[in-house]
Amino acid sequence: MSVATVRPFIMRFINALGVLGIFIHCVNGVPWTQEKLTHRASTLTTEQIRTALAHTDLDQMWQRDLTPLLVTRYPGTPGSLAVQQHIKATLGSLEAGWNVTEDSFEAHTPYGPLTFTNLIATLDPSAKRRLVLACHYDSKYYPPQWHGREFQGATDSAVPCAMMLELARALDQELKAQKSSSPDLTLQLLFFDGEEAMFQWTATDSLYGSRHLAEQMESTPHPTDATDTNLLHGIDLFVLLDLIGAPGPRFGSQFPSTSRWLSKLQHIERRLHSMGQLVDHPSDVQYFWPNHQVGFVQDDHVPFMNKGVRVLHLIPSPFPSVWHTFEDNEENLDRSTIQNLNKILQIFSLEYLNARPTDPLNPQNAP
Ligand SMILES: [Zn+2]
Repeated sequence: MSVATVRPFIMRFINALGVLGIFIHCVNGVPWTQEKLTHRASTLTTEQIRTALAHTDLDQMWQRDLTPLLVTRYPGTPGSLAVQQHIKATLGSLEAGWNVTEDSFEAHTPYGPLTFTNLIATLDPSAKRRLVLACHYDSKYYPPQWHGREFQGATDSAVPCAMMLELARALDQELKAQKSSSPDLTLQLLFFDGEEAMFQWTATDSLYGSRHLAEQMESTPHPTDATDTNLLHGIDLFVLLDLIGAPGPRFGSQFPSTSRWLSKLQHIERRLHSMGQLVDHPSDVQYFWPNHQVGFVQDDHVPFMNKGVRVLHLIPSPFPSVWHTFEDNEENLDRSTIQNLNKILQIFSLEYLNARPTDPLNPQNAP
């Protein structure tokens, strides 16, 4: 045999070994860390959507979750502690059985060392893959000369945090059922501390919580006995909510790798519009624009994205006009927008998790 004829045999042999190696490490030929790339979300029927959305209640969200968040809550304040307590108590009271842990650490800031605390809520910590919803709960610090005026940070990011708590409460039965029927895929909620710069935005004075948690997750084996995968591999999709609650938000695409999920949100927006589920929503698409490319924004996703996590950044473009002013308060929030986005996000999460709505009259009788 000439060299030319031997080489293909050698190559075939090497390829066969490679394929064998992959089969040893994965199920059905796809390593679990790659399943996110081809993940298929379900599409709920009109009836299932109606049933699922019967649980969400904007007034209740406002009273139970948003009002307690609308306080000064930069790191180390009594407001920050109260918000942490509120998040833990709320998730702890639900039937789905959330596992809530704290990531507490000290970091140097322009004002000296400060303690920061991230909260991590996981529906099923034993599940390999997680759909992550994330927000920051800290508010921006304004020095004492501003005294007499309180920066509420209503859109930045009290509303996103309240939306996540409302989602967990409204879908409690669905998430409980999903947890027992789907052991490999779960929901994780991340509440970051210290997103805001304490003095002025730099690489070291900003994103305190997310930088720390991304490092932590990278150094934590996942599943627990793994030698070559960590908690970051477990993140299917990192959905970051920020600056939400002002009227007329438009979410464009920043990352081609996740634009299909922005398309999914647009599709849900269209469906809910056609079902008459959305209020003050004149056209079938108002919010989600997967074909509209928008500029990159520094935010809590960056430390994760830099480590290879796939991100869907739900931040309006342009920012709300009240951004980083004392007008970013409860008065200037748009109730219709928040209610509509609650519904869209809840259906998105159910469909991503392949969860099904349960009958509100008979929650034991999940279809
Ligand atoms: Zn901010």
